[in-house]
Amino acid sequence: MSDDAWRPAIARAAAALTSCRRLLVLAGAGLSADAGIPTFRGSGGLWRNYPVEELATPEGFAQDPELVWDWYRERRLQIAASQPHVGQRALTLLQQHFPAGQVLVATTNEDDLLERAGVNEVVHLHGEIFLTRCTTCSWQGDDRLDNALSFLPCPRCGARVRPGSVWYGEAVPIAALQRVAGFDPDGCLVVGSSCLVQPVASIPLELRLHGHPVVEINPEATPLSELVTCSIRALAKDALPVLVDLLTSATVREQARRVT
Ligand SMILES: [Zn+2]
Repeated sequence: MSDDAWRPAIARAAAALTSCRRLLVLAGAGLSADAGIPTFRGSGGLWRNYPVEELATPEGFAQDPELVWDWYRERRLQIAASQPHVGQRALTLLQQHFPAGQVLVATTNEDDLLERAGVNEVVHLHGEIFLTRCTTCSWQGDDRLDNALSFLPCPRCGARVRPGSVWYGEAVPIAALQRVAGFDPDGCLVVGSSCLVQPVASIPLELRLHGHPVVEINPEATPLSELVTCSIRALAKDALPVLVDLLTSATVREQARRVT
């Protein structure tokens, strides 16, 4: 199989998505992995000999909050030192020039690469790593500058603070779910996600049942692959720029024609 055997699938994907008026992009770990962000869900990985899946739990934090914070501070630094890739920047272009309507981007990634790529309104289904929030009251603060908030008690109530990530066993934030549910998409692009969390996981299936297009970009086959309109077997950073170019080039040309 040649390196760009996926290119014919991109033309089919673009043809399927071009008439959508409300396109939902669901982005998973693969999108961030392409930027060098290590994934850990289901990885079986260790950090200082601790299974990372145990660190990212309410129980792990209750047992040793400083250990969990050390891991999160290290992850924050890793993310801060990474840069958005061309696939993530392409999503910004898609939002700005999508021919038929609106594009909403929701992600299970806790990093800020999509925001730094310029994407407008990123819905974080698994929280945001750079937020530090109170374990007791509703206070939260942006801690991306120097982790200073992570070393202090809650400024409002004095309780212990925790990372803004959603841990194993915790529910997806209700505001994020409401935003996605209220968007009422008529098409979906699933990028770098092998297993979506419920209830978001049912969105692509429901769209297919109603005859709407669902396109998947993933180098590996996933449980969704059998059901989608079109699967693009490629990395997000390779496939997204080509797909976005096909979807937006006519719009960009038209805008340029009006200006000149
Ligand atoms: Zn508090």
